[in-house]
Amino acid sequence: MAAAGGQPQGICYDAIVIGAGIQGSFAAYHLAERGKDTLLLEQFLLPHSRGSSHGQSRIIRSAYSQEHYARMMPESYRLWQQLEARAGTRLYRRTGLLVLGAEGEPQFERWRCTAARSPHPDRDPDAGETLDAAALARRFPGLRPRGGEAALWDGAGGVLHADRALRAVQDLFRRSGGALRDGEKVLAVEPGSPLAVSTSAGLYRARRLVVAAGAWSSQLLAPLGLRLPLQPLRVPVCYWKEKVPGSYSLERPFPCFMAVGLPQAPHGIYGLPACEYPGLVKVCYHHGSPADPDQRDRPAPGACRSDVALLRRFVGSYLPGLEPEPALLETCLYTNTPDGDFILDRHPKHSNIVIGAGFSGHGFKLAPVVGKLLCELSLGEEPSYSTAPFSISRFPGALRAAL
Ligand SMILES: Cc1cc2nc3c(=O)[nH]c(=O)nc-3n(C[C@H](O)[C@H](O)[C@H](O)COP(=O)(O)OP(=O)(O)OC[C@H]3O[C@@H](n4cnc5c(N)ncnc54)[C@H](O)[C@@H]3O)c2cc1C
Repeated sequence: MAAAGGQPQGICYDAIVIGAGIQGSFAAYHLAERGKDTLLLEQFLLPHSRGSSHGQSRIIRSAYSQEHYARMMPESYRLWQQLEARAGTRLYRRTGLLVLGAEGEPQFERWRCTAARSPHPDRDPDAGETLDAAALARRFPGLRPRGGEAALWDGAGGVLHADRALRAVQDLFRRSGGALRDGEKVLAVEPGSPLAVSTSAGLYRARRLVVAAGAWSSQLLAPLGLRLPLQPLRVPVCYWKEKVPGSYSLERPFPCFMAVGLPQAPHGIYGLPACEYPGLVKVCYHHGSPADPDQRDRPAPGACRSDVALLRRFVGSYLPGLEPEPALLETCLYTNTPDGDFILDRHPKHSNIVIGAGFSGHGFKLAPVVGKLLCELSLGEEPSYSTAPFSISRFPGALRAAL
């Protein structure tokens, strides 16, 4: 006898993963590759654009201001390459990346210090090189920094084709024997060994669970006694038209860039060459306004308008070859932690429940390694990298609620 729409009674999965965004999909893929009988559950029909992993482009870079991420990037590049080879599709376009800032400004200097100490996946002899404003203007005439500003060069930086990548990892998960059920929302989790997961279509049991539910993570974790300080943000995604077609294109290639430590944009601004829409360059503020993930389409609040105004001023001043008015405006969701670091940890009370959340707008590039860490944590193994920076215990309030 089968539970309505669920698994036949008596069957118990090795693992269930909640959330088929990029993190849950990679976690499920690694589990299936390790021979674990894995079920991946997604509330929406796939593909969808209601979470954080949709769209055509994400930046990949080895430049990071925190060493714990920089250390993971060489492996992440290798795993992306492996995925490309297995899926037989191109997922990464190398363009190089500039980290722009003012010489002597503390944030910018932190990026430079970490770059000097970190491994560079591409062994690019110019990696970590700093270009002053004059050198930048010569090499990238589309970018107009101010006097006293400079940029750190990351030669391995580039663009990941996000939608294609998500589909590729889900296809490989299935090819490795995994089961993916979309259009099926998880309604409740009953901890235990095995644990029980009830959805809009049935009831499943499993030895372990990975929760990778993006902006919905708090909704799932609160009934399990865990109150993580996760803030979903509605982020405006702006595209700006080239004045001269092709001048900021992926083929040229115009590099990806990030502007850090600018007083007028305290959370940072980033941009990618024209890629998903012909002639339109994506330039966004690395921030947004608090939102309920189920209500994200309500009319843009004032904060969103002021973020777009900030971008208008940046584009007008730094990117003279773009029209200083957005040609297209879309939205996406970030799920931020107070310190901007991910949460990758076991539930403090139920060790067979593992949580991957709070990717704070920079998790896509690291998803192959994040998925591997979530897999290792859920199998009770020593993780390949220290997960201390990602622990739940750094939020004492969350722990008190759970114990
Ligand atoms: C505009 C924008 C630009 C970005 N740029 C970059 C970049 O350049 N580089 C970079 O590295 N990162 C970038 N990021 C961040 C990166 O995209 C995210 O960190 C990553 O996509 C988060 O993935 P996720 O799997 O945690 O979340 P999601 O993709 O949101 O996946 C969570 C999934 O869980 C599902 N779910 C939730 N609740 C349930 C439930 N109860 N039952 C079943 N399913 C459920 C959701 O429907 C969703 O599909 C960007 C993000 C945005 C929004």
